[in-house]
This record gives sequence, structure tokens and C-alpha cells, in this order.
Amino acid sequence: MRRERVSDDIYVFTSDLYAQVTASAIVTKEGIIVIDTLPFPSETREMIAYLNSTGQGPIKYLVNTHWHGDHTNGNSIFAPTVELVSHQRCQQALSEFGAAELAASKETTNLLDGVHIRIPEVVFEEGEMVLHMGNKSVELALMPGHTFDSTVAYVREDKVLIASDTVMPVPYFVWGDRHVFKETLREVLQKYNLESIVQGHGEVLLRGEIPASIESSIRYLNILEDRINDIIEKKRGERALAKLTIDSCGKSRIPLNGLVQDLHRANVQSLYKLLLAEKSVEVEQKV
Ligand SMILES: [Zn+2]
Repeated sequence: MRRERVSDDIYVFTSDLYAQVTASAIVTKEGIIVIDTLPFPSETREMIAYLNSTGQGPIKYLVNTHWHGDHTNGNSIFAPTVELVSHQRCQQALSEFGAAELAASKETTNLLDGVHIRIPEVVFEEGEMVLHMGNKSVELALMPGHTFDSTVAYVREDKVLIASDTVMPVPYFVWGDRHVFKETLREVLQKYNLESIVQGHGEVLLRGEIPASIESSIRYLNILEDRINDIIEKKRGERALAKLTIDSCGKSRIPLNGLVQDLHRANVQSLYKLLLAEKSVEVEQKV
């Protein structure tokens, strides 16, 4: 696990074990707000031990930004006195899919032994909620696209957006909706005054890098859709899909030790199936 600070009171913890997942903490004398957990208990425990050693706190809230296990598998590691907070959609998704997803992950590794599902108890149902802690105000806002329950956390006093998978080195929409994702990315740029963005995976984005990075994600989604539509119209099939590299859609192949290429391939396959299905519906309607 790697630890860094993005401001005096905000720490970011990055997993060494899986896909450079990040978790963050807003630290005050009155209490600590943790945003997301790390994928495996060993690293989540390490993060909690560090936060307990700062002489601040205690940890009062743990926020889940969305239901995916790589960000929520540590829920049950936190003390029962720590209140779990999320959007109502995340609570619902974890209740519906959490146990099955965790069981599937446990099949692939013994690093999750002893982990069980813990569902958020405190939920908000509208678009936003503000958590106040010490001298900090943390705005939680529903920003769907990566998933239908994706939420971001904006620390007003520090102008830091803890964006989770709403901002990643490549936008990953297999579980979500690419159109909604684009709207959300535009909203992120318009809505917030930003010093930095903590991405759900990988490096922290600094002020000067933010507009170009987010615009390149919107452009990526547009290019990908155009290219796949073209492949379908020209009936060029799977071989042409294989040639559709992440670089040719304007994103680097390097981040997350190259894992972005796997995310990109999954995007390609998912969008191809979706567009084929949409087109066959159009054809049926014409007939
Ligand atoms: Zn995710």
C-alpha cells in the first residue's frame, strides 16, 4: 500500500495488490471520514492502523462510492461504531449483488478469507448530501456512468474531488452507461473548482492536468462509439475489433501497469454487443 497526502488533511492510500485502487481519508481532530476501502483486508487494516496512529479522529464515517468489491470489500474490517454511508442505490446494489460478487472473488484468491458483506446503514436518496466533520464539509453527489450508483466526494475547503471510478485513466462503462458517463464527466468539469482529483485507480490528477484528462475521456467515449459503429456498418467483425487499440481511441496504454488495456477491451466487447443489439432492433422496426 502506498500513502500520500493531497492536502494537509487528506490522505490517499493506493493498493499495491490490485489495480492501484485508491481509498482516501479526510482527517480532523473531531473525527475522520474514510472514502472507500482497499480491495484486500490486509491493506485496509494497514490504512486503519495508520489513521488511528495520527492522533486525530476517531474514524466516524466510511463512505462507499459504489458497490464494486474492489472499493467495498473492506467494509466489514471497520469497527461497528463506524457508520457506513452511501447513496441509496449503492445500498440496494450491495444488498442485491454484493454477496454473490464476493463469493465469486473468494474463488480466485484466499486474500479475502474472513471478509463478509456489510451494507451501508446511512443513506441519502436525493442527488446530494453534505457530511460535516470538524472544519470540513464533504459533499457527496450521485454521479452515475461507471455504475448507476456511482458517487463522488468533494471536500469544499480543500477543493479536492475524491472521484472514485467516475474518473479513471480510461472510462470503464461495462457496468454502467456510456451516455450518462459523458454527461457526468462534463458535470464534473463545470460544477467544481478543483485543486486535484483522486481517481478511483492510479495517480492523483493535479489542477493543470484535470481539464485535458477529462476531455480526453469524453473524446475516448465518442471515438470508441464512432469506430464500433463503423465496424458494424461495414460488417468487418471481430478482426477489426481486435485492431481497435486504446491508443487509437486517444488514451495511453501505460497506466495501471497496462491494465487499462484490459478495461478498454472489455469496453469494446460490451459496446459492440450493445450496438449490434440496438441496430437489430432498428432493422426489425423498419421491417
Ligand atoms: Zn468500480
